[in-house]
Amino acid sequence: MRIYEMRAEYVTGPAGRRIGQWHMIKDNGITALCGYDTDPAAEKMSDLAWGHTEEKFCHTCGAIYLREVP
Ligand SMILES: [Zn+2]
Repeated sequence: MRIYEMRAEYVTGPAGRRIGQWHMIKDNGITALCGYDTDPAAEKMSDLAWGHTEEKFCHTCGAIYLREVP
């Protein structure tokens, strides 16, 4: 059984570093489903938080996730 988790991608703006969007990773990996290499130290969240975050979610990861997880 696959384990999915969300991992943050950070952006640095005028107000400092913040979470830009969430990617989905699989089995505690570094590379997101969309191919983006996440920071291993970046914040993680359960995939149950999908769609419930203030920050946006990577569209590509979302599409792949929804296809892989019934
Ligand atoms: Zn992504």
